[in-house]
Amino acid sequence: MSKMNQMIDKIGKAFDSPVFTMISETADSLGYECYAVGGYVRDIFLCRPSCDIDVVVVGSGIRMAETLAKRLGKGACLSVFKNFGTAQVKYKGLELEFVGARRESYQRDSRKPIVEDGTLEEDQYRRDFTVNALAVCLNKERFGVLVDPFDGLADLEDRVLRTPAPSEVTFSDDPLRMMRCVRFATQLNFNIDDEAFEAIKTNAKRIEIVSMERIIDEFNKIMMARTPSIGLVLLDETGLLDEIFPELKRLQGVESRNGRGHKDNFYHTLQVVDNIAKESDNLWLRWAALLHDIAKPQCKRWDNMVGWTFHNHNFIGAKMVPGIFKRLKLPLNEKMKYVQKLVELHMRPIVLSEDKVTDSAVRRLLFEAGDDIDDLMTLCEADITSRNAERKRRFYSNFELVRQKLKDIEAKDHIRNFKLPIDGNDIMQMFGLQQGREVGELRSAVKDAILDGSIPNNREAALEYVTSLAADKGLKRVDNGKQ
Ligand code: ATP
Ligand code: MG
Repeated sequence: MSKMNQMIDKIGKAFDSPVFTMISETADSLGYECYAVGGYVRDIFLCRPSCDIDVVVVGSGIRMAETLAKRLGKGACLSVFKNFGTAQVKYKGLELEFVGARRESYQRDSRKPIVEDGTLEEDQYRRDFTVNALAVCLNKERFGVLVDPFDGLADLEDRVLRTPAPSEVTFSDDPLRMMRCVRFATQLNFNIDDEAFEAIKTNAKRIEIVSMERIIDEFNKIMMARTPSIGLVLLDETGLLDEIFPELKRLQGVESRNGRGHKDNFYHTLQVVDNIAKESDNLWLRWAALLHDIAKPQCKRWDNMVGWTFHNHNFIGAKMVPGIFKRLKLPLNEKMKYVQKLVELHMRPIVLSEDKVTDSAVRRLLFEAGDDIDDLMTLCEADITSRNAERKRRFYSNFELVRQKLKDIEAKDHIRNFKLPIDGNDIMQMFGLQQGREVGELRSAVKDAILDGSIPNNREAALEYVTSLAADKGLKRVDNGKQ
């Protein structure tokens, strides 16, 4: 099949469903020109099937949607967004967005344009990239005809992101488009054309007029791509990273002393994120990978005996997580706690594997990681980016040992969701104590004894143990042994 025929074939298949016939008839009956545009059309050619379809009419998008919904009958669900002049019709798993063709003009301090009715071509011109500005006519007479005034199809073939309008204008008008550009480059594995790239560099500072929610939305899409490092490198090269995420930027660089350098923690982090992305679709595990070494710059010291050290970077890093999440408008709930925990514990399995793997150390790790132990192990393995094959092999085989031990001990001692068999209240009642340091000390002594394996993990043993500990401190049971 010739290229042209292939293209016609793809369009034919993508608009085959009866709902498009209904759209066609509706538009014709209203006397509107009507086109599918944007991501849906782009993705036809990239063979990425999608159920979100943007439709532009030269007329009222709302009226079009209302008329169509009526025609489709019971199965259709209509939502109208008067303020935006758009309307959505949900039908049989499809989400159709209708909007009137528009032309836009911007003011310097806002990414919200003044919108006026426009022609199809004006509408295509104000879109972010030529590959997102392709339109396919849905009116009966020209059904399936591709309208491509800015050569988007050629750019799709070349896999390049180019702006229909001068890039300087596109990115300055709505700086969110810079994030979208990096996001599409990452998701689609496209290049950014030189003019666009330069314009992003020039306008990077203008990202400040965009709300953090929108920025992080794009950032998370980059994080969820198959190879997030593509986007993270582009954010760095364009200067956007400096604006939105300076802590990450600070990981960059290598310092040498006496001929000894440390690794570049930025590129190491990117590699860990890519490694994790191969293993898991969990956005928050990917975030843990992104932040696992975030405190290394602050914790870097030179030691004449051992060279560069980063003591406590895991603890300091975990402490930085809430501040970073807050600024980036990420959730401050259990997702954040999970990331914090993984950042804090990310050294533990490695340290464990380098040492003799004792039951007691494994129990402690299980206790602290709880249900996140598997994710922690995944993160730790992803963290091994050494180029030394022998070193790598040793790590992996030690890790196998740790994993096996984790399994054995969990089966034996059930530490994973471990709750202390006695709590502070028990201790207060037993010895007639008020809440305070003494109670806390007794409680953690019991915890340590269980995790060390010196007493079994049950209530009877814990009561006996805490009674003898208390006796050493001169405390007597006041509850007549009722506990
Ligand atoms: P996906 O849905 O896969 O993220 P998409 O291309 O469909 O990709 P949407 O955000 O759904 O992206 O937007 C639909 C279309 O609207 C885009 O293809 C583009 O033409 C246009 N568009 C969206 N946001 C902007 C923007 N900030 N500036 C210019 N055009 C935009
Ligand atoms: Mg879309």
